[in-house]
Amino acid sequence: MYEIDSILKEKECPECHQFKPISDYNKDTHRKDGLTYYCRDCEIKRNRAYEKKWELERSQGLVDIPEEKECTECHRILPISYYTKSRRNRIGKAPACKDCARKRFLEYYSQPEVKKQLQEYHREFIKKPEQRKRMKEYKKEYQNRPEVKAKAKENRQSPKFKERVKKYRQRPETKELYKGYREKYLAKPGVKERIKQYQAEYYSIPENIQKRKEYMKEYCARPEVKQRRKEYRQGEYYKDYRGKYYKGYNHRPEVIEHRKEYRKKYRSRPDVKEKERKYNKEYNSRPEVKARKREYIKEYLERPGVKERRRANQREYYKRHKENLNKI
Ligand SMILES: [Zn+2]
Ligand SMILES: [Zn+2]
Repeated sequence: MYEIDSILKEKECPECHQFKPISDYNKDTHRKDGLTYYCRDCEIKRNRAYEKKWELERSQGLVDIPEEKECTECHRILPISYYTKSRRNRIGKAPACKDCARKRFLEYYSQPEVKKQLQEYHREFIKKPEQRKRMKEYKKEYQNRPEVKAKAKENRQSPKFKERVKKYRQRPETKELYKGYREKYLAKPGVKERIKQYQAEYYSIPENIQKRKEYMKEYCARPEVKQRRKEYRQGEYYKDYRGKYYKGYNHRPEVIEHRKEYRKKYRSRPDVKEKERKYNKEYNSRPEVKARKREYIKEYLERPGVKERRRANQREYYKRHKENLNKI
């Protein structure tokens, strides 16, 4: 080929009578110079013309299509229905059988570089706006078909599907994605106001408040929710938040006042009083509490100045007692 290339830089095409560089000719190993007789453009034109002619002949029933044919690749003699349609020959059938064509196709597309190229092409192709629009329309039409709808509904109710959805939602990247969607949505003008308004309307019905309360009760009683809440409360974020929030909140005068009021009210309730009394009695009768008390009193009486103070108090008491007796 090198020799031919170097000698024949250009070649005349017998069809269009132009001198063309040999890169404008297809390769043909059956010919002496290794190139096709006609230039590529003329070759294409001639092929098209033949294809048209053959097609016309076939449509007019002028071509004898054999009942059987030998495959050019596996050399089996097979019925003509084993060959796919082709425009490239007179009988309108591919030279190789369906099996061989399929094999060749799979072989070709399983090559890594071809696969990659195809993927890239596909990726670029579906990015085109008109293609996107077409796909969207098709999807819409497809999903609206009654049989597709029914099937989708059935699928959604299967345990397998539910499991898959659960797994999908638990994936960190999914959570991140949904968070992003939510933030984007909430940032739209008017959305927050609309939500607020809707909630106000919804919770203005006592029935809905009750429903919500019941749901929350049921929800918070779930073991996994309890666990999660516990973990949350022990987490850094919550500690930080609580610290900041309560510090401000607890020091508000109205909050302090309100708490005081509440405590007073609570402790003056007869049932609470009774409970407190009972508890104290039980508490004070515990041996360890009694021992602690005794220990404390002993320690207290030995403190410097306590004895003197007690004595002075006693003296004062007796003095007053005497005076009272004298008055009588
Ligand atoms: Zn030509
Ligand atoms: Zn074959």
